[in-house]
Amino acid sequence: MKVKIDLKKCTGCSKCLESCPFEAIKIVSEKAVIDFDKCQVCGACESSCGRGAITLVDG
Ligand code: SF4
Ligand code: SF4
Repeated sequence: MKVKIDLKKCTGCSKCLESCPFEAIKIVSEKAVIDFDKCQVCGACESSCGRGAITLVDG
């Protein structure tokens, strides 16, 4: 599993940054970007995004 950001839905609001216990998300050019070296696939960010831009996908 890995975290996927739908860039069309992401507004860069930063809400997901606060939800991540591993500081694995940053905003680049007003879009959320996952640092896969830090991400532990805990899923906390998925529910934090009110726009449904974050999903956990296979792969
Ligand atoms: S909470 Fe959702 S819309 Fe906001 S920056 Fe994160 S992914 Fe983008
Ligand atoms: S799945 Fe967990 S560790 Fe990975 S970016 Fe989301 S909140 Fe952070």
